[in-house]
Amino acid sequence: MYWNKDIETISRKDLEALQLKKLHKALQATSTTPFYKKVFEENHINIDAIKTLEHIKDLPFTSKNDLRLSYPDGMVAVPRKEIVRMHASSGTTGKSTVIFYTAKDIKDWADLVARCMVATGATPDDVFQNMMGYGLFTGGLGLHYGAELLGCMVIPAASGNTLRQIQLMQDFETTIIHITPSYCLHLVEVIRAEGIDPYAMTVKKAYLGAEPYSEATRKKIEEQFGIDAYNSYGLSEMNGPGVAFECTYKNGMHIWEDYYIVEIINPDTGEVLPPGEEGELVLTHINREAMPIIRYRTRDLTRLIPEPCPCGRTHYRIDRIKGRTDDMLIVSGVNVFPSQIETVLMKFPEVGNNYQIILDRENNLDRMHIKVELYSKLFHGDIKEIERIKNRLKEALKALITINPRIELLEPGSLPPSEGKAKRVIDNRTL
Ligand code: ADP
Ligand code: ZN
Repeated sequence: MYWNKDIETISRKDLEALQLKKLHKALQATSTTPFYKKVFEENHINIDAIKTLEHIKDLPFTSKNDLRLSYPDGMVAVPRKEIVRMHASSGTTGKSTVIFYTAKDIKDWADLVARCMVATGATPDDVFQNMMGYGLFTGGLGLHYGAELLGCMVIPAASGNTLRQIQLMQDFETTIIHITPSYCLHLVEVIRAEGIDPYAMTVKKAYLGAEPYSEATRKKIEEQFGIDAYNSYGLSEMNGPGVAFECTYKNGMHIWEDYYIVEIINPDTGEVLPPGEEGELVLTHINREAMPIIRYRTRDLTRLIPEPCPCGRTHYRIDRIKGRTDDMLIVSGVNVFPSQIETVLMKFPEVGNNYQIILDRENNLDRMHIKVELYSKLFHGDIKEIERIKNRLKEALKALITINPRIELLEPGSLPPSEGKAKRVIDNRTL
């Protein structure tokens, strides 16, 4: 099932021709903005010299810092009266950035989200409960408009207030939820703690996004909840959610190339990498009037999957996001992403739904301390059993990071639950 079959199954050749046409239009628009006017001048960029898609690499990158420098409206390409909405990023890595939309931009974004939802098998019969934060954060209103356009009944629940969420799910027979993976893990724990069988609920699908998580966490959520979980990727700079989404094959996220030109670069050198190699995702928004952005460095690490997908969609897929370039931890000289630690932890059935990584420096040595909740169903409080799990976790983690982490196993519900983007790492070394 498709939302817009012609565009979703367009031939690569036609898609590339469309991209080039839209790129030219986007470049015309950007060159009128104060920020890009200056950048293009300083870098002696002649936009008419961009004759093929490959030429995009002659254009300079745009960084998150550039957005901060041009705050509030240095990248806006339309008169103020044409703008109908603004959003802001969550500010996970510093001052948040602002994005503007015209009425057409909002409509196009909703259309893209509807496309994503249909790719997962959603229909107007679905009841969609949106457990992402509303307001400036794009996760709430972004999915909201798309789900309405598709014709679902939307419950704008926003995040938090878990017991009320469960009540809404039961009373209105919710079939799809949109939620961060960390909050979903908490939600399913609370459902069970309330004596409700998650398998007996009407929920069939979860859209999980807004933060990195491992395949093992997806599996855990699917098993505990008895649902299909789909990976959803987006960032406010590129509209918000809807940039890339999994289809029913759940094997990488289709990235909508009629809206975005996709590049993967070496984050250290800026060099464009061949398809399939892992690096930093760089996106050019070629479908936004208010704020077209050229070669935006997302800082998200992934790889392109150019192989055809059995669903028939021709738009390339991206692999699960490994983390952000600035998430990487260097522990005793070893590079490690929190998502790698999560993969190890979540593979243990005894491990529950929350964990925390704490880093300290003692006598010039890095120390890692991992607090891990046990899974309520398997937690019996047997000391010997706990020692055994601890040792197995230690061994598995040592194989990954070579240092010996201190493991602390906790009762379910001991760590602060996440209702939005989780904060998993506490790094005390730089304080
Ligand atoms: P901020 O950059 O301040 O967190 P956003 O709210 O726009 O602002 O969040 C976008 C970021 O969230 C992405 O760049 C990415 O790092 C992360 N993200 C979103 N969806 C996913 C996903 N499915 N998997 C991993 N990370 C994701
Ligand atoms: Zn597919």
